[in-house]
Amino acid sequence: MPYWEKDLETLSRTDLEKLQVIRLNKTIEQATQSPFYSKTLKGKQVRDIKEIQDLPFTTKQDLRDNFPYGFLSVNKKEVVRLHSSSGTTGNPTVVFHTQHDLNSWANLMARCLYAAGVRDTDVFQNMSGYGLFTGGLGFQYGIERLGCLSIPAGAGNSLRQIKLMQDYGTTVGHAIPSYLKRLYDVFLEAGLDPKKDTDLHTLMIGAEPHTDEQRRRIEDMFGVKAYNSFGLSEMNGPGVAFECVHQDGMHIWEDAYVVEIVNPETLQPVPDGEYGELVMTTLDRVAMPLIRYRTRDLTRFLPGQCKCGRTHRRLDRITGRSDDMFIVKGCNIFPMQVEGILMKFKEISSDYLITLDTKSDNDVMIVEVELDSKEFVADINFLGNLTQKITNELRDEILIKPVVKLVQPGSIPKGEGKAVRVVDKRVKS
Ligand code: AMP
Ligand code: ZN
Repeated sequence: MPYWEKDLETLSRTDLEKLQVIRLNKTIEQATQSPFYSKTLKGKQVRDIKEIQDLPFTTKQDLRDNFPYGFLSVNKKEVVRLHSSSGTTGNPTVVFHTQHDLNSWANLMARCLYAAGVRDTDVFQNMSGYGLFTGGLGFQYGIERLGCLSIPAGAGNSLRQIKLMQDYGTTVGHAIPSYLKRLYDVFLEAGLDPKKDTDLHTLMIGAEPHTDEQRRRIEDMFGVKAYNSFGLSEMNGPGVAFECVHQDGMHIWEDAYVVEIVNPETLQPVPDGEYGELVMTTLDRVAMPLIRYRTRDLTRFLPGQCKCGRTHRRLDRITGRSDDMFIVKGCNIFPMQVEGILMKFKEISSDYLITLDTKSDNDVMIVEVELDSKEFVADINFLGNLTQKITNELRDEILIKPVVKLVQPGSIPKGEGKAVRVVDKRVKS
């Protein structure tokens, strides 16, 4: 079986941990060059990878408080690129890269693509925003590293995306999952069927939470295999963890990151296989190493070995972020619980919006969801029954009764970036 970096990707756990210890000690030394870590990590070293638990955590707030250069571990002259979050409120999160860091990121990205079956014979269309967002350039360098013909299409402009696909025979695409339904609708409006009228066989989807049902819908619409891609800018961006062809969890590259899952309350490691917050440490980054970074993403390690032979552990689908959770009438709710129920109904599309509001001093939760086809809109009985069924299933899942509103296809507002699933208009007391 061919592997892209076979020796690294199939290391035994003992050898992988030995490599991690060497790289972690080097990383700690490098990190102490930064103003932030010079205060907390000076002189620290580990002998066993478990000793990482004795090191302090780093939080998003630490990054914000030390904006912009407090985590920089090299002379600014060595830095060749930065990526940052949009930061509409407060300081953005910024990550700096040296040329070494970019090369290493491109390798990880290429490994991910190879693991998902992409080859240098593929034509790869990247429908992700280029610029400060990492989905554009992060994928771009990985695609080139693997040797595919790359089409840096950027986000949006669906008619142009379709034309590019048809002109150049695109075989693989990358996009955020919430965009793909819109792209599909534009195919239909143009009288085209992506299954018959393109050469697509694979889509990479990620950058935002989505359920397995959502993935299966995308696969059916486009007649492709769709692979879950996970990353965050603090850990480079895409290329951190990715499904292989077996679609059975996302391999996370343990020669490049130490991965821990902790209880978000106690901050202690959870037993293997249990859900908790993902904590990550970079092992191959020079400009801005991060030690025990609390990602806020909730997931778990999948037990056992993957059929592909890669030994790097697999993460389960991200169920949400600890800061995504909202509380209504004392019930803790994650948007993905709602999506999981909605996607079971074939009569509704993938677009939905949860609005939280205050009515007569009480919290109300409104779930607007688009119907899949205009044909359904006129039938009052049909709409009533469907609303009732969805409401009941949601109540069983989230333990409160939401107000479900079925709306016309295309009526929920959408931007070019990641989908907004929850709007909280509640009066804060
Ligand atoms: P950003 O750094 O702005 O690209 O955002 C990174 C965040 O997007 C992560 O911390 C996750 O919360 C989310 N994210 C990225 N990829 C996925 C994925 N495949 N599934 C679920 N959430 C994801
Ligand atoms: Zn695998």
